Amino acid sequence: MSEEESPAQRVAIGISFGNSYSSIAYTSGEGKAEVIANEEGDRQIPSILSYVSGEEFQGTQAKAQLVRNAKNTVAYFRDFLGQDFKSIDPTPCHHSAHPIQHESTVAFKIKDKEDDTENTVTVSEITTRHLRKLKNSASDYLGKNVNAAVITVPTNFSDAQKDALSKAAKDAGIEVLQFINEPVAAVLAYDARPEAKLADKNIVVADLGGTRSDVAVIASRGGMYSILATAHDYDVGGAQLDEVLMDYFAKEFLKKWKNGGDPRVDDRASAKLKLESEAVKKALSIGSSANFSVESLSKGFDFTCSINRMRYETISSKVFATFVRLVLNVVEKAQLDPLDISEIILAGGTAHTPRIASSLASAFPESTTVLAPSTSATAINPSELAARGAAIQASLIQEFETEDIDQSTHPMVTVTPHLARAIGVLCISSDESTGVFRHLVEAETPVPVRRTAIIATPREGGDVLVKICEGTRVIKVTKPEPKANGKAADDSDDDEDSDESDEEEELREKTYKVENVLAEAALKGLSKGAKVELQINVAADLSCTFFAREVGGKVAVRGGWKA
Ligand code: ATP
Repeated sequence: MSEEESPAQRVAIGISFGNSYSSIAYTSGEGKAEVIANEEGDRQIPSILSYVSGEEFQGTQAKAQLVRNAKNTVAYFRDFLGQDFKSIDPTPCHHSAHPIQHESTVAFKIKDKEDDTENTVTVSEITTRHLRKLKNSASDYLGKNVNAAVITVPTNFSDAQKDALSKAAKDAGIEVLQFINEPVAAVLAYDARPEAKLADKNIVVADLGGTRSDVAVIASRGGMYSILATAHDYDVGGAQLDEVLMDYFAKEFLKKWKNGGDPRVDDRASAKLKLESEAVKKALSIGSSANFSVESLSKGFDFTCSINRMRYETISSKVFATFVRLVLNVVEKAQLDPLDISEIILAGGTAHTPRIASSLASAFPESTTVLAPSTSATAINPSELAARGAAIQASLIQEFETEDIDQSTHPMVTVTPHLARAIGVLCISSDESTGVFRHLVEAETPVPVRRTAIIATPREGGDVLVKICEGTRVIKVTKPEPKANGKAADDSDDDEDSDESDEEEELREKTYKVENVLAEAALKGLSKGAKVELQINVAADLSCTFFAREVGGKVAVRGGWKA
């Protein structure tokens, strides 16, 4: 067991520990996060341990054992940590060692010793062994003993699950500096890039893994992140796409070998079918076709078959649609409109799938950027986001004392007071009665907050009234012009592509409705075309002060109001 190291002696990494895959990352001197390859050269290390005559295998080598040695191969165990047996779903372990109840926890009966006796090994012990391997791979790579980490967890990981993971890590010689939520890690990985611009925005992080999909809507305000809504779906993930392909290839196999037996029925054949289907699925994320090839798939019959991307996308269309629905539902749950979302960050291995990214791009307006390899040249590898974000966080906090880490990092992901509505400004000249609302602080911004903006005044100058108001976002929907003679009014002399493809869509725009005026300031005698610099400070108790002055001029006003 390792005792907590003093900050100066910590060597910290970022760990993403998923049910299907794990990754380890570190931050180099220049603050750049990099994912470390293990001894086998893998950056995505299957979260699997397998035992052969007492020898322990991990990752890809262990995954290969799912065919011949399934009973002594432990997989998909992360979500079992800290849970009692009754509350777990053992379905993903169909092809590996089955979870059993052991006292108040979950365990596996495996032959993990040289003498081949069957032992009961708890999920906590399996996790410790897995994390120890990850730690050793990172230590070998870095040339120094890794003893601390930031580990990513799903947003719905309970305190009991975190405690169990923390203990398992400690037993592996890793001090958990902090758990960070997977979606926050993904946002951090993007925001830490040198070219990133820190803008207030609403982001969706869709983490599409192997056994589950987790989606979060995050408000990013001045470098602070708050989670507005989340959803977790255990029936949507890469495993469902594997199953679609398994069914497809099994049917093709049966067409070719009538006496071959259904490979989905026999355990060993089914394990081979699954492994190769997953490989085909990954190949189809890059290429336009892929080959399925397994020697002795079932009853000694070999099977080779190819599939193109179009076919794959057709047979998987229902699964793809569930991913899109999941994302749209969470946006709705956050009481937002797709127009409120600036970015969708696609994270997790399944996010490599081009059709998922393009379907999401179609479901959201053009103003929403979908950050995935197939839709954005600047996207970060979705499989690396969590580990990279964790490594960045580790480098930021590893020199802090433990108590300071607790204090400094909690507000980032826990609920702090937020503004319920946007705050903005109306600039009105003396001869006008209304003005256009310009928002300065978005709704959901944690307080305290300060924002400064330069705003144009009515052209004539003179006396200008600056009204500071609260506003709510409304979506303005403009119906298409009624069609003349069955055609769009502005399409009258182009009759080639007039039908469905040209279907008129309603125009949806984001605007603000002024709710109430919080303060007013009169700026007198402004020069023609003057600009006004306006600063708003909202304190933690929601009281506010503001300062408005003519840029380059002498006119200035200060004011404020109590919450
Ligand atoms: P979970 O905890 O949900 O099981 P995870 O976080 O452990 O998932 P990830 O690496 O995020 O694992 O996702 C694993 C899934 O991504 C697997 O189903 C895998 O087949 C799939 N995957 C990995 N790479 C690709 C790719 N290039 N194209 C399509 N799918 C991929």
